[in-house]
Amino acid sequence: MSELATIPLTTLKGVGAAMAEKLARVGLENLQDVLFHLPLRYQDRTRITPIGALRPGQDAVVEGIVAGADVVMGRRRSLLVRLQDGSGTLSLRFFHFSQAQKEGLKRGTALRCYGEVRPGATGLEIYHPEYRAQSVTEPAPVEQSLTPIYPTTEGLTQQRLRQLSQQALARLGPHSLPDWLPQELARDYRLAPLDQAIRYLHRPPPDANLEELAEGRHWAQHRLAFEELLTHQLSLQRLREQVRAQQAPVLPPAKKLPQQYLQNLGFVPTGAQQRVAAEIAYDLSQAEPMLRLVQGDVGAGKTVVAALAALQALEAGYQVALMAPTEILAEQHFLNFSKWLQPLDIEVAWLAGKLKGKARAAALEQIAGGCQMVVGTHALFQDEVKFKRLALVIIDEQHRFGVQQRLALRQKGIDGRLCPHQLIMTATPIPRTLAMSAYADLDTSILDELPPGRTPVTTLVIADSRRLEVIERVRNACLQGRQAYWVCTLIEESEELTCQAAETSFEELCVALGELRVGLIHGRMKPAEKAAVMDEFKRGELQLLVATTVIEVGVDVPNASLMIIENPERLGLAQLHQLRGRVGRGSAVSHCVLLYHAPLSQLGRERLAIMRETSDGFVIAEKDLELRGPGEMLGTRQTGLLQFKVADLMRDADLLPAVRDAAQRLLEHWPQHVAPLLERWLRHGQQYGQV
Ligand code: ADP
Ligand code: MG
Repeated sequence: MSELATIPLTTLKGVGAAMAEKLARVGLENLQDVLFHLPLRYQDRTRITPIGALRPGQDAVVEGIVAGADVVMGRRRSLLVRLQDGSGTLSLRFFHFSQAQKEGLKRGTALRCYGEVRPGATGLEIYHPEYRAQSVTEPAPVEQSLTPIYPTTEGLTQQRLRQLSQQALARLGPHSLPDWLPQELARDYRLAPLDQAIRYLHRPPPDANLEELAEGRHWAQHRLAFEELLTHQLSLQRLREQVRAQQAPVLPPAKKLPQQYLQNLGFVPTGAQQRVAAEIAYDLSQAEPMLRLVQGDVGAGKTVVAALAALQALEAGYQVALMAPTEILAEQHFLNFSKWLQPLDIEVAWLAGKLKGKARAAALEQIAGGCQMVVGTHALFQDEVKFKRLALVIIDEQHRFGVQQRLALRQKGIDGRLCPHQLIMTATPIPRTLAMSAYADLDTSILDELPPGRTPVTTLVIADSRRLEVIERVRNACLQGRQAYWVCTLIEESEELTCQAAETSFEELCVALGELRVGLIHGRMKPAEKAAVMDEFKRGELQLLVATTVIEVGVDVPNASLMIIENPERLGLAQLHQLRGRVGRGSAVSHCVLLYHAPLSQLGRERLAIMRETSDGFVIAEKDLELRGPGEMLGTRQTGLLQFKVADLMRDADLLPAVRDAAQRLLEHWPQHVAPLLERWLRHGQQYGQV
């Protein structure tokens, strides 16, 4: 641990118990914390601007003599101080002021002040400037460095934070704050010494490049971002090593069950499915736990791959758990697996959060008793769920589960001794850069081939002023025996508003399309109601299904060949891609209509154009990342994983390959540096995952 990390803030001048408590609220507990509490931006107070040269909108230091101070009554009462420096006159205006303050601003006083210059009733004015009386003969020197503005909290002034950082900087050096990047690495990756970078960021010299600093492209920021990303890598790799060090059940390649399964399946797996299945089969036959992510575009046939993996564990006499993020999706899997496994004499259990009372107790007993295949939602993570011989955990749609949840399942092994293998499937292709950071603890397989006979979906971008035309299109498709989806997107993050909008569209479409059988499904309906509606749609009894994005995943109705998405501009591209994947599953030519609300922003137009131009989930994911940033892309639930102090995955993406290299080298040659780095960056940051 570095020396500065052991020095509490109460040892500093002016920090008592009450102040220490406030500081703790922004995460500051010791001197090292203060040094890593970096400015958000800077002000330039290193030079004095003549009043005559001031421009509106400028933040400036001004010096002059008070020519008069009067309380004026305009729309609001204020104290107006006239300041002159020989080049012009400036007014300082105070809406709140004390008598003492007024006294201190008497005519003839020399002042230095700082603030934002704006046009006002008397010409250029500064409202509530920071100011200090000056000695005319011996003016105080101007600031020698740019003035940092720190992230703060109520009752904690910038002045105070500056004093603290000043004191901490005075004690900063290579010994008090060791640099854990060995010189060799610093040289190869062209990184400055840690103490220099920190000193620079707290007190940049007057000639510092403010633009670079604002954009986070400055060398000093790079130095810290590199170290932070490196630490993140190390923590994930350590996690991975810890898991690999555990024992997993050895599952020999299966013969009998897969053969029967494939015979009944009705189609032959694609080359990609066979390749990925073989990769998984090999992992499962090893004594160390598999940690594998299968990425495959919507409709690539991940479920078959999952089933083949499950059969290997089942044939060896073990239990398998399959988990999905929503009840609809989990249920779809339950039905599929029941259909596939019953002919093989394999029992399938169901567990979801909504399962209560006796049914729940029965399910728990069934699972504890060794029921071979268990399907459910994240209810399977809960402590009270005890497995008997769990050898394989399959998680569908990984991006909705966090690292923590992944870990919880790893711990559900046999007698807490054998760690189950883990297979994670995602239909949201993860751009490489992001995958490297967010999923460094996983191996990856890619299903890069769609089953034969799919027809590509044609996407149209249409303004909602042409809504009636679009409704006619729905009528035609349905009258020709096809089925259609009408999707209403999220409104202001409110499920309630969204469901209401879906109800309104439903009513409108029922009236407009009187001859069609129209159904409605949304998140506020009871599971049984939802299931009933889905069933009717699957059986073709409903021709048009009005839905919220609850149908995003898992719905599989090959006869549906038309999807209308209202207000697609509200959704991420990856999500639109998911939705669109619900059509184009049969042999009919399929269409997706993006019914946007005009006017679209430039960005909005670009995004929808991407949807029209490509149906490649990877291309879409890369663009989505580029346009929206990783936090949004992975969903808020997962951003904890990606919250950095200095680094920004998008901005610093080009550092990632070097970061990964450096992590390898550090682990190999300087393993003793790993713990101090983790301690420095992740002290409060167990978000990166702890075993
Ligand atoms: P996803 O990868 O989106 O989870 P699914 O596993 O749900 O895809 O498969 C989508 C559809 O494609 C299902 O109806 C499934 O039965 C079918 N399917 C999967 N693999 C093949 C294949 N090799 N040949 C034909 N159809 C397949
Ligand atoms: Mg799927």
